[in-house]
This record gives sequence, structure tokens and C-alpha cells, in this order.
Amino acid sequence: MSTELLYYDTPPPEAFTARVVDVRRLTTGDGEVVLDRTSFYPEGGGQPCDTGTIAGSAVLHVRKENDVVVHLIGGATPTVGAEVSCAVDALRRRDFQQQHTGQHVVSAALLRAGGYNTVGVHQGDAYTTIEVDAPQVPAAMLDAVEDATNAVIMADLPVTTEWADESTIDRLPLRRPPKVSGSIRIVRIADLDCVACGGVHVGRTGEIRLIRIIGTESIRGNTRIIVKIGDRALRDYRDASRIVSNLSRTLSAQPAEIEARICQLTDRAERAETAVADRDARLQRLTAAQLRWQSRSIGNVSLIASVLRDESSGFLRGVTETLIAEGSTVAALASVDGDRVLWSVGASVDTGMTFTTSRARMLALIDGKGGGKPPIWQGVGTRPGGIDTFMSAIADAVETGSL
Ligand SMILES: [Zn+2]
Repeated sequence: MSTELLYYDTPPPEAFTARVVDVRRLTTGDGEVVLDRTSFYPEGGGQPCDTGTIAGSAVLHVRKENDVVVHLIGGATPTVGAEVSCAVDALRRRDFQQQHTGQHVVSAALLRAGGYNTVGVHQGDAYTTIEVDAPQVPAAMLDAVEDATNAVIMADLPVTTEWADESTIDRLPLRRPPKVSGSIRIVRIADLDCVACGGVHVGRTGEIRLIRIIGTESIRGNTRIIVKIGDRALRDYRDASRIVSNLSRTLSAQPAEIEARICQLTDRAERAETAVADRDARLQRLTAAQLRWQSRSIGNVSLIASVLRDESSGFLRGVTETLIAEGSTVAALASVDGDRVLWSVGASVDTGMTFTTSRARMLALIDGKGGGKPPIWQGVGTRPGGIDTFMSAIADAVETGSL
């Protein structure tokens, strides 16, 4: 037996009574309920399903199986034959009605203003997207479409539904050919738009309240237009205003000056970063030159082993690179930072040393981790107290040629 579809009524009822015709218990503990009639919209046509309650139990999901609407229920399920009170979540539905009707208005305006055909729609949790058959839509066109849609809202046009079949469908000014056959539901917005659609809509365009196109993205050679519709558009405007006024205060700039101020600050930060990098490089070269004085000759190799304070691993790497670049050098550097010790070991390629065989044994001395590949290895240890032993062990390994 097919379900009577109350959500096709205009307007669709938010509260209704129905008789339970089937109940299935699921292994998850939830239940599936079929009613003789329902106003719960099942997921489909780019529109999410309604939620609400059936006999006080939460409706988690609604789907359509052929001509039957199946409600997924959390908690107690009613018994077959019972007459139950049902309530649709009105706020959630109102949002979908605004999204769906708003999408029709935007699609109609895109076609009228620029000849763009809607080839796909999606109602997301945050915004609705409309995909059109063009690689790009100019910003001025989007503004014109937005103005046209808000004029339709202000005109408060009636949204009506009717049924058509093969014999009458050709006489209708459809925006696009229907995807279904047989008895087809037609949704009209006065003489602005006429399209086959099974979704829930508002009764008049004024209920859409506001439409704001917030951006576009490219997809498969088409353009996806991102739209805030209805109460969502108002909330988005409120959030955006709050962000702008916070930025205005933080930057001590008028809203119109915020972009320029941020560009100025970004430029300044980039210049400062370059200056710091230059200075770091100079400091690394100076440190390397200083450490060179403390080197020990072991055979043909100069060994530099030193513990620095509060330096970054990038700094240790830079100094190590400078030292081993001169050849015949092994450099072992560390920097203690509270409970951590950063380590860096480098060996000039001509020494033939690769810090492979002894690494695990050495790192155990500082509870260290890390690795690398010739000619530099780096990491972190959690036992700064072991760092002197670590340095001595490196010296021993260089001496015995077992680094
Ligand atoms: Zn629709």
C-alpha cells in the first residue's frame, strides 16, 4: 500500500495524525515505521529529509521505498494499527522550504539574465549550491542575478503546485525537461518560473526573506554558485558584520580600510621575515666560525662537539651545514631547552662517516629520537642530563672510526 503524501499539500502540515501500518525492529535498537499518510519529507531531489516526532519518539531519518515512506525512529516504536500524533521540526523544514524555493528563484534569474542553465543543485548544512553550464559567471552578472532574486522576494509572488501528465506537460513553460514520467508535480512561481519538482516550498516568495550569492567555484568546466538563502543569509550577514567590526577595532581601521591595512601588515611581516632570515644566516656563520676555534683534530678529521642554549633545530642545522661544508669535519651540536634537548650531527661526505651503526646506542643516552640521511641527522631527546655523555660517545666513535 502506498503512503499518502501530505508534504505535497500547500502549505504542507507541520502536525498531523496517522495510522501505523507497519513496524520493523532493527538490530541497532532503532525501529522503522510506515504510516498510512505522512508529512515527513523523505530525503531526495537534493533536499535533506524532515525530522520531528512520531508518538513522542524522535524521527531520525526518512526515506522513500518505491511508493512507501519509511521513518527511522529512535526509542519506543508505536504498535501497528495505532493512531499516532506526528510533528515535523518546523524550523528545520522552514529552512529547507526557503532553500528550495530560493534555489528555484536563483535558477530562474540565472536563465533570464544570462542564459545559464542549472545542471545540478545541492542543499548543504551551511549553504545551497547551484551548478550552471558555463565555465565562469562574471561578478557583475552575479550582482544582477542577486538583485533580480531579491526583487522577486519583495514582489511576494505566489508559489503554487499542480499535477501534469504526458498529455498536458507540453503546454507548460517548463524551465527544463522533467526527469520523471507519468504524473508529474509542477511548481510555479507566478509567471516567473515553472519546473517539475517534488520538494517542499514556501507559499509566497516573500517568505524567502533574503538571497545572497557569496561566491563561485569551478567544477568540471561548469560553475558552482554558492548561495545563502533565507534566515541563513541574515545569520551570515550578522556573523560577517561582527567579524568586520572586531577586525576594525583590532586594526584601528574603518571597515573600508581593512583590506588595505591587512595588505600593509602582510607586506611588513614578509619584509621582517626576510630580515630575520638574513640575520639568522649571518649568526649561523658567526657561530660556526667561533665553534671552529674549539675543534679537536682526530686523525684527518676535525671534531666540533658543543652544547648551545635556546637555539632552534633550524639554527642547529644551519650551523652544522656551515661547519661540515668545509670538509673533513664532524660536528655534533645540541641545544637544551627545559626538559628537551635538540641534537644535530653532521659529517662531511669526505669523512665517509654515516652515523648509522652507533646512532641507536648514542640516542639512548639522551632518550632521543630522530634520524636523517647523510650528511646531517637531527632529532630531540628528553634527557638533557645525558648530553655530556652523548658528546663524549661521539668523540670516541670518531676516534675509533665507528660513527
Ligand atoms: Zn523545488
